[in-house]
Amino acid sequence: MNNERPATTKKRCPKCRSRSFYIHETQEVHQTWRVEGGNLDRTPGDTMFGSFVGVSGECLHCDHRWTFRAQQIDDLVTENDDG
Ligand SMILES: [Zn+2]
Repeated sequence: MNNERPATTKKRCPKCRSRSFYIHETQEVHQTWRVEGGNLDRTPGDTMFGSFVGVSGECLHCDHRWTFRAQQIDDLVTENDDG
């Protein structure tokens, strides 16, 4: 998905039906530190993004918070370029 591209979502706040809200996407991040003979290198090694944990909403109008059934933000958006 190209993040520069305009996109819309048909989702609404389930409480007040507002179409203005935050989408919080949660994703696992795996980070690796190397230990040799008990010495910990504080410079992180590989960073790998893991599974998408879930997506939640926070309404800008009424502050309601809710959880989307979707796993990631791509499941919520409609690209504008195909109408
Ligand atoms: Zn709301």
